[in-house]
Amino acid sequence: MDPAPRSFPDLPLDEELGTPVPFACGTGELGAPASARELDHRRVTQCALSRICGVCGSGLGRPIAFLGSPEEEARNAFHFPPSHLDCAERLLGVYAEVRGSVLGQREPFDSWVIATTGGFEYVRPRREDVDRRATFEPNSLLEARRVS
Ligand SMILES: [Zn+2]
Repeated sequence: MDPAPRSFPDLPLDEELGTPVPFACGTGELGAPASARELDHRRVTQCALSRICGVCGSGLGRPIAFLGSPEEEARNAFHFPPSHLDCAERLLGVYAEVRGSVLGQREPFDSWVIATTGGFEYVRPRREDVDRRATFEPNSLLEARRVS
């Protein structure tokens, strides 16, 4: 069963980090504790195909925001699904000091980036890819800025 959207203050908390767990990371419905460490692939796909926010789970408008690392920005390939700009800013406000393996990131990095765009391509991994995660490529970038 698909979960209902949740507003930012109603997001479940990560038991280890004490931080809100966004929609795209799963919300612990299946008995596992909610964790902000890894993305939930089903949710990521749902965000991509239904055009819903990776943070709150409700429908996207414009601009669309992507959050990630400077390396993801440089490659124009983000792992965290599209979000409302307001949701991305609120989430990174909480995660400003949390680096490393959270929100689908696997490597340490200097600062979070928020990129805004009018649209994006959803790129599924190919069979030969070592990294089998889908990515999102902004296709009409408006702005990219570092956070904190
Ligand atoms: Zn949202």
